[in-house]
Amino acid sequence: MDPLDALTEIAYLLERERSSRYKSKAFRAAAAAIEGLTVEQLREPGLRRRPGIGDSTFAVIQQALAGEVPERLVKLRAEAAPVGGTTIRPLLRGDLHSHSEWSDGLTPIDAMVDAARGLGHEYLALTDHSPRLTVANGLSPERLRAQMQVVRGHRGDGFTLLTGIEVDILDDGSLDQEDDLLHALDVVVASAHSKLRMERRPMTARLVAAARNPRVDVLGHVTGRLVEGARGTRPPSEFDAEAVFAACAESGVAVEINSRPERQDPPDELLAQAIAAGCLFSIDSDAHAPGQLSLLDHGAARAEALGVPVDRIVTTWPLPQLREWLERSR
Ligand SMILES: [Zn+2]
Ligand SMILES: [Zn+2]
Repeated sequence: MDPLDALTEIAYLLERERSSRYKSKAFRAAAAAIEGLTVEQLREPGLRRRPGIGDSTFAVIQQALAGEVPERLVKLRAEAAPVGGTTIRPLLRGDLHSHSEWSDGLTPIDAMVDAARGLGHEYLALTDHSPRLTVANGLSPERLRAQMQVVRGHRGDGFTLLTGIEVDILDDGSLDQEDDLLHALDVVVASAHSKLRMERRPMTARLVAAARNPRVDVLGHVTGRLVEGARGTRPPSEFDAEAVFAACAESGVAVEINSRPERQDPPDELLAQAIAAGCLFSIDSDAHAPGQLSLLDHGAARAEALGVPVDRIVTTWPLPQLREWLERSR
């Protein structure tokens, strides 16, 4: 087995199971450290002392060179529980919510693009965080402008990287980025990340304002709940879901089906309400690392179980149709 492929696949599987970021980073760093080395160089005992190589990554490299599938990889592959086939997953053409190391993601944009291509995506929207989310290294207007140049440089070759943002919905329902920048971006996902315990009435007004904002395309992880995982659990925000989903349906804003297993947002009852309200949906990974782009299968399984009409899932649409929708209010 190729040692570089082994290290990369291990990092990918660690990311998908959302283990500590330091673990997957160690494998990505080792992969970067051995890139371009010959088999002879990889066999030298001195490799262990090279920066970026540790005991476990060294072991993986040696096992791969010996023609084996490294033990660590065998174990991770076995643990990667299949979510089960759905008819919706193969219909998904891309993803409108992802992060890179520009904010709180783990890797450069290139690694996200490679993984999205590897999954057969036709497009990916890069939606790093907005300025006020300082804990996530949110992008200032200047940094976002710089990122837009980089993202535009990726276009072509049958794959489209869309410019975007996951913009914070501020307490009063306004958005945490300059309006002309939101206007210029391909995709605007609006999400609340603070004051999630706000009272029902102001929380409703906050989310309705975001849904009615003509710059917004997708309402991200609408309740903010956490149902499992390292960050612990968090109850859903309280708001008048009927009013929020009516605003989404009226303005053509897609309700995000956030695929992260710790979010599973919106909850089943709310998803059923959004279907009844006539909303559009976007099944997104909210990936913070390449391996997490594959989490879409969880969102697809939930959409299927709850009977989300496929023609209302914008991420099943051909790119020209998706673009027409994204540009509806710009
Ligand atoms: Zn978010
Ligand atoms: Zn996000």
